[in-house]
Amino acid sequence: MKKKSLQISIISSSIFLVFLLFFSLGMRIFFTNFFTDYLSKIGLKENKSISSQLSSRLKGDYREFTIYIEENDNEALNGKEVRIHDDYYLGFGDVTSSGLVFEDGIEVPFKTNLQPVFAGQTINIGTKSDFFDGTFIDDEVGIYFIKNNRFGYFSAKDYLDDIVGKRNFALVRNDGLILYNDMSKTEFTNLGGYFKKSEKIVEDLENNLDYYKVSESVDGKLFVTYSKIEEVEGIYYLDAVSYHDYIFNLNVIHRVLAVVIISAIGVMLIVSFIAAYFLTLVYRDLELSTYAFSYNTIPIVIINQRGKIHFRNKKFKELFANHKKTKNITDILETSMDKILKLVPIKVWLRDISINLLGVRMIPVKSTMHTYTLLMYPFLEQDELDEGETKINAKTNLPGLNKFRNDIDEIFKSEVPLVDANMIAVIKIVNLQMFDMMKGSTFTDELVYRVSEKLRKLVEKTNFSQIYQSYDNSFVLLYKSKGTNISLRDIRRILEDFGDEVLFEEFKVSLRAGLYEFNTKLERSSAIIMYEKAKFACEDVIQSSNSLYGIYDNTLDIKLRKQIQITEDLEEGIRKKEFIIYYQAQYDSRLEKVVGFEALLRWNNPKYAQVSPLEYIEVAEKSAVILKIGDLVLEQAIEAAKKLEKEKVTISVNISPNQLMQVGFVNKVRSYLEKYEVNASQIILEITESVVIKSFYDVISKLNELRNLGVKIQIDDFGTNNASLRYLKDLPIGGFKVDRMFVKDLNVDRHSKAIILMLFNLAKNLDLDVVVEGVEEHSQYEYLTKRGARYIQGYYISKAVKFDEAVKLLNKKIRKRTEG
Ligand code: C2E
Ligand code: CA
Ligand code: CA
Repeated sequence: MKKKSLQISIISSSIFLVFLLFFSLGMRIFFTNFFTDYLSKIGLKENKSISSQLSSRLKGDYREFTIYIEENDNEALNGKEVRIHDDYYLGFGDVTSSGLVFEDGIEVPFKTNLQPVFAGQTINIGTKSDFFDGTFIDDEVGIYFIKNNRFGYFSAKDYLDDIVGKRNFALVRNDGLILYNDMSKTEFTNLGGYFKKSEKIVEDLENNLDYYKVSESVDGKLFVTYSKIEEVEGIYYLDAVSYHDYIFNLNVIHRVLAVVIISAIGVMLIVSFIAAYFLTLVYRDLELSTYAFSYNTIPIVIINQRGKIHFRNKKFKELFANHKKTKNITDILETSMDKILKLVPIKVWLRDISINLLGVRMIPVKSTMHTYTLLMYPFLEQDELDEGETKINAKTNLPGLNKFRNDIDEIFKSEVPLVDANMIAVIKIVNLQMFDMMKGSTFTDELVYRVSEKLRKLVEKTNFSQIYQSYDNSFVLLYKSKGTNISLRDIRRILEDFGDEVLFEEFKVSLRAGLYEFNTKLERSSAIIMYEKAKFACEDVIQSSNSLYGIYDNTLDIKLRKQIQITEDLEEGIRKKEFIIYYQAQYDSRLEKVVGFEALLRWNNPKYAQVSPLEYIEVAEKSAVILKIGDLVLEQAIEAAKKLEKEKVTISVNISPNQLMQVGFVNKVRSYLEKYEVNASQIILEITESVVIKSFYDVISKLNELRNLGVKIQIDDFGTNNASLRYLKDLPIGGFKVDRMFVKDLNVDRHSKAIILMLFNLAKNLDLDVVVEGVEEHSQYEYLTKRGARYIQGYYISKAVKFDEAVKLLNKKIRKRTEG
């Protein structure tokens, strides 16, 4: 994988590098052209402005000169002091065929053949040695105006400096003759000597074109502009600047460009390497941007098709902090992989009671061949479950938990805080699930509606401020500070008023309440946590008390905390593989040998070793932990069955309600049977009556599937629930286990005897197996077997023991004694 990422990064980097090279080359050409062009425009403009100043000055002065010449003849001028432009002393003379004759009579001969040109030019600018033969003591630059074979002459240095200043310039004639040269330390009379390639310049001058050029000269590379001095025949103003100075800006740009490009290459190399690394690590198209994935504001996980979590983003870790190490998504959410793999958005519940959330809307997306991305939108209340459904419960017209939460928030926000004894009451209808099982949901709906109507009226008569309905058909009352006693009196009144009244058909309904008091100054829990605590108090009162209501107090708080603690310990116990299975023998009194074992959980941990699994199983059932434990028991039990294949011994496994109702449970059983090549008839699943009550019809179809698989089903703890007889005939089961409660009292209690005999009879008529549990003494054994009990389980046979010891029990025989 690393190799591949290296390849990708090298290839992409080199492509990028080549691109950058071409890019920078292009940029260089572009910038050079652009700047030369740009600078030349500025240069030409400057040049023109100087040459036009020069031109207008020369033109004006020349005009002054001609007027003067026309008005005065030669003689009149001789010896006269004349100034031009008020500044310059003007000397006069005549132009002859061979040279100039100055007014003082001195003759200066032209250089060879210069005469026609010099005389044809109205203005000449240059030193005497430029134009004339001979040596001159003061050979400074002069300007010569010529009109009708007469000339005027004056010193040019200050004249030109006034306008041109300190620039490097030259005045050039269109034949290439340099009239005046301020460019070079060396004197040059012709452009041909100065520029290495002057032809073009001369040619352009002849064509009177304004021009700029980068040219190599004796003084190095120059940026040259020149323009015609308008209306002065054949003279050009030429401006020259060192190209390097001129183009300095350009070099700075090049350097900046170079730095940018080099750092871009660097960054690109690093980024492409990282990107390639991650891309090859997991080929996720959805998370091409790992950043977006990681910092997304909704929780996101990536799982494989078995639900194993590959990645979790920041938000997920934050929200599901309890599940830092949980490996499978189905341990966190109440769903199955079958559902997720359909790739349609679904709403799912959290398994975890310690998380302050109820569920998430999940959008599963297939991201690669083998992975799926789950986008999740958590929500708090079931009220939000169905889009479009109002927050008011459609059947009872009561507001939901959402409104409850808002109202609580309002209380905390209100300016005058309500300090004492605010109260939340969660009210449940006792045995609602059983009504549902026996009479169906239409009945339950009607019942809930009637209860809600009555409750609403009762609440109006009390000091409770509001009534809400929760998703599980319980009710929530909110009470705003008027003193604890009043609220307790009110709640008792409400619950008692329900009392014995027949509400619906022949059914009496009784309610229980859990109360949670809070103080806006001290309370730290959120609305939902407070609700959960009141609910906990309510469940506690239903389970283990005769009172109508219970208050969430210190004792309950400790209990709740203990539950959370146990849940955490369970998780850790699973990780540390502390759970083992013991086997308790089941004796067939007819065949007179052990024919089966019940698998019972043991926790190899000093804190829990002596604790009956009942205690922590009950806690485990409230969260996803039960699934993991159940799974491990199931697998080990089936593995044990394989070892006892020859003996045809059955293994009974306790299946918790949640485990049974888990989607995919049947498949799980099947896959373990296949994995260990175990005959299904060797396996018995023990389910409790509570699961049957919870969702009767779902359970039946589930049990049918299991039966078709070949495994047997037995009802555990049979007889402890009074509803048993009602549904027994409809269930696809192979037998039941008589709870040891009846055996215990066998000797003392006539009723227990009667019930046991009735159960035996029932089993016989329905052709069901009966296993009697909790047989501790020989007398019990004999009494039961004499009355037809076939399968016996209990300490009298054996306690639950390790597998190796259990195997030894296969030789055990109960000796028949004739006396009891
Ligand atoms: P259960 O399924 O009714 O299991 C029988 C319980 O009665 C066991 O307690 C067993 O040790 C005990 N027992 C058996 N013979 C006698 C006897 O002669 N006298 C007395 N006094 N007790 C006897 P244990 O192992 O403490 O298990 C308690 C409960 O924990 C079980 O009741 C079952 O509901 C649950 N449980 C145990 N293992 C598992 C498991 O793997 N999965 C699930 N879901 N629940 C389990
Ligand atoms: Ca059992
Ligand atoms: Ca039992």
